[in-house]
Amino acid sequence: MTRPPPRFPLDLGRVQGTARATSAASPELLRPQRHLHHAAQDAQQQQQASARHAPQGLGLDSAAVRSRMVQRLRADGVRCEPVLQAFAQVERHRFVDTALANQAYEDTSLPIGLQQTISKPSVVARMLALLFEGEHARQQGHLGRVLEIGTGCGYQAALLALLSRSVVSIERLKGLHDKARDNLAGQQAGDLRLVYGDGRLGHAPRAPYTSIVAAAGGDDVPVAWLDQLAVGGRLIAPTHDAERGGQVLLVIDKQAEGVVRQWHDAVHFVPLQSGAA
Ligand code: SAH
Repeated sequence: MTRPPPRFPLDLGRVQGTARATSAASPELLRPQRHLHHAAQDAQQQQQASARHAPQGLGLDSAAVRSRMVQRLRADGVRCEPVLQAFAQVERHRFVDTALANQAYEDTSLPIGLQQTISKPSVVARMLALLFEGEHARQQGHLGRVLEIGTGCGYQAALLALLSRSVVSIERLKGLHDKARDNLAGQQAGDLRLVYGDGRLGHAPRAPYTSIVAAAGGDDVPVAWLDQLAVGGRLIAPTHDAERGGQVLLVIDKQAEGVVRQWHDAVHFVPLQSGAA
């Protein structure tokens, strides 16, 4: 598998208020500014930022803690190098409450407020690796144009931004949409757009998408997602499976002749709900 295009390093420590608020009537957008730095200067600033922000008990070098998490993911069978590299880069502890930061690199789901949870790293890695096995991603070596439903705290959006050309991420809870915007404000990966609204409708203005990923599970996949999926694209969504009596990861490939469905691992995601709140 080829590597995704090179990106500016992610430094979520530098929260510089790059987010732009817009009126509630229109989707809220986040267009992170790109900052050009000399690579060495970047590395030094990143080190200083890590030292400033590393929570107690995590140790000053959160890169080492992340690399242990990546080793565990690898040992668990995740083989997709771009995904592993993204996990090594994005600082998960910045996306959870300070009180939970010392659990951020364990393979556990964590509360992010408003009764929602961030999925455990092994499940996120599994989903992203499955997305990478879609036709478009295999050919291009990146996820292309991504739609994420359920921004939550923004962690997976940060990973997706490193693995794609562009990301639209939708969240129905204003409190979490705002939190993600703050968490991602220092994000320096290319084209990441946060939208506040009901993700069951997808986001038609930027369709079609080559990769669609849902972080909340419903009884079936909304028609809008299938309509907005490009031919050659892949969708992955936790979906209720009547036969198994629980949620499973449903993978849908859109081909010229129609859609092909595959059912994978049993999972436990928060419910996909209607409307914005
Ligand atoms: N990817 C997220 C995980 C968030 S949990 C992260 O990295 O943090 C799932 C999220 O889906 C919740 O925040 C929930 O509010 C959101 N959600 C549920 N139904 C939704 C819908 N119809 N549209 C948009 N977001 C939805």
